[in-house]
Amino acid sequence: MSTNTGRVTGVNGNMVSVAFEGSISLNEVGYILLDDQRLKSEVIRISGDTASMQVFEMTNGVKVGDTVEFSGELLSVELGPGLLTQIYDGLQNPLPQLAIQCGFFLQRGVYLKPIPDASWEFTPVAKPGDILYPADTLGTVPEGIFTHKIMVPFNFADEEWEVVSIKESGTYNVRDEIAVLKNRKGKEESVSMVFTWPIKRPITLYKERLRPTDPLITKVRIIDTFLPVAKGGTYCIPGPFGAGKTVLQHMTSRNADVDIVIIAACGERAGEVVETLKEFPELIDPRTGKTLMERTIIICNTSSMPVAAREASVYTAVTIGEYYRQMGLDVLLLADSTSRWAQAMREMSGRLEEIPGEEAFPAYLESVIASFYERAGIVSLKDGSKGSVTIGGTVSPAGGNFEEPVTQATLKVVGAFHGLSRERSDARKYPAVHPLESWTKYSSPIDERKVSYAREILFRGNEVSQMMKVVGEEGTSLEDYIVYLKSELIDSVYLQQNSFDPVDFAAPIDRQKIVFELLFSVLGSNLNLEDKKAARSFINDIRQKFIDWNNTPRDDERFEIYKKEIQETVATKFESYEKRAQKIISSK
Ligand code: ADP
Ligand code: MG
Repeated sequence: MSTNTGRVTGVNGNMVSVAFEGSISLNEVGYILLDDQRLKSEVIRISGDTASMQVFEMTNGVKVGDTVEFSGELLSVELGPGLLTQIYDGLQNPLPQLAIQCGFFLQRGVYLKPIPDASWEFTPVAKPGDILYPADTLGTVPEGIFTHKIMVPFNFADEEWEVVSIKESGTYNVRDEIAVLKNRKGKEESVSMVFTWPIKRPITLYKERLRPTDPLITKVRIIDTFLPVAKGGTYCIPGPFGAGKTVLQHMTSRNADVDIVIIAACGERAGEVVETLKEFPELIDPRTGKTLMERTIIICNTSSMPVAAREASVYTAVTIGEYYRQMGLDVLLLADSTSRWAQAMREMSGRLEEIPGEEAFPAYLESVIASFYERAGIVSLKDGSKGSVTIGGTVSPAGGNFEEPVTQATLKVVGAFHGLSRERSDARKYPAVHPLESWTKYSSPIDERKVSYAREILFRGNEVSQMMKVVGEEGTSLEDYIVYLKSELIDSVYLQQNSFDPVDFAAPIDRQKIVFELLFSVLGSNLNLEDKKAARSFINDIRQKFIDWNNTPRDDERFEIYKKEIQETVATKFESYEKRAQKIISSK
């Protein structure tokens, strides 16, 4: 690509039309030159010699005739050590803590280096004469608790490179030359620890894509047991305002068994995003005992920031995720909320005067959503290791109505649907994931037959509860009533989980297995309960024991005591086959 210039011919909000000479590319970055500022923009449509460019800044002061300088580069992110712990905007500008706390943002037209100019302890892996390909390892640096691979830049096309020289072990600045590589034609290139990659182009330098079958444990019972997600899979959390989407994502970001968490806080109100930014640095990582930020990256664009950067933010996030996947790490990308991202698309499409689709979203909404989620995946790498990017996106449809384009388009492509219900959140049944309306395509690490039996009880219990609203408790048979009580038991001791209890907020999978087995001993038994009153008091009793147990640490001696108590209580009501047979015989 060569660098060209153009002139502004029209301004419509943050959309600017530019007449240009020479050739430019879609998604190429250009700068509008004002007297003392350069405003970053991206080519999003080319027709003839006119480009439509979205400007990532307020456009006041931009006028017809202003000069535009094209960069010759696609909208890209910087990749290299130092990404972890960063808080960026959608264009990877680092947002200093100070600016966030004071509630103002970077000055217009000021772009900082995304990767800080720090020094790193470099250890070479390759040696002169080695033949390498893009993404092969040149050396490593320690980054937090990880070994960060310094790789042959991904943008070094698909050819062979010979290592001409490589630095010895030592401390180097991230932008220092650490190696010189030569291609077959003899062209030499200097390499540092940093390179760039276009955000809208997936990184596919792996050996093969695998089927997502390894469960991604979130320590949220309703998810892991009933609605599991796999590493490299995708899921969405649609829900009305205030139903608990953000809280659920925070729980997950803290507890999920992944290496790196990337949070794309996208288009929500500034106040909510600031919550996230304040909360995160204080959270302790249960795995390392250090702060959670050490393995987190936050990409944040509030609703008060220009929409164009919001549109870019999810791509910035997923590109960084793919970069770490290439090192053999497991990455979880949480986008909150994809509805706001879609609104940015709608706004841009409107400015481009495109023919609108449903609810004024662009006609290509579905394909854009699909291609975003397609960037998730678990892959095998050349060195035999595996890496994954899992994507979970919240959807915030107006009024919680799931029959709208963004939810529907998302449901077509994701592997699991964790729908939040207003009814459940109003009843403070958290996490408010609806157990019957939600679904997953991934398999549960808990015995699937028992899980579907429990789901059957939930389903039937719900039917009985609907029926009871009409015929009352008296009109319900004892058998139905017991099913209803069992379904209530599953809900209150298993599906609900207290995110503010220091023990209950994270239920490791081995713990879930024990509790589920025990719960199943109640569900799967034919309980000998003479009437509804006895049934209710039995279930109440056992429910309390389960709840106490959920709040008891594993190493507490009461952990085993509660377990035994539950077993004994069940045993007193357990109707053995002999007893049942006798009952049937004597009734004849
Ligand atoms: P949303 O992102 O869907 O708009 P939030 O995640 O911000 O909603 O949740 C709104 C409020 O609901 C929280 O501030 C909290 O009081 C309550 N809440 C949500 N989830 C939970 C939970 N798991 N446990 C306890 N309270 C919760
Ligand atoms: Mg929220």
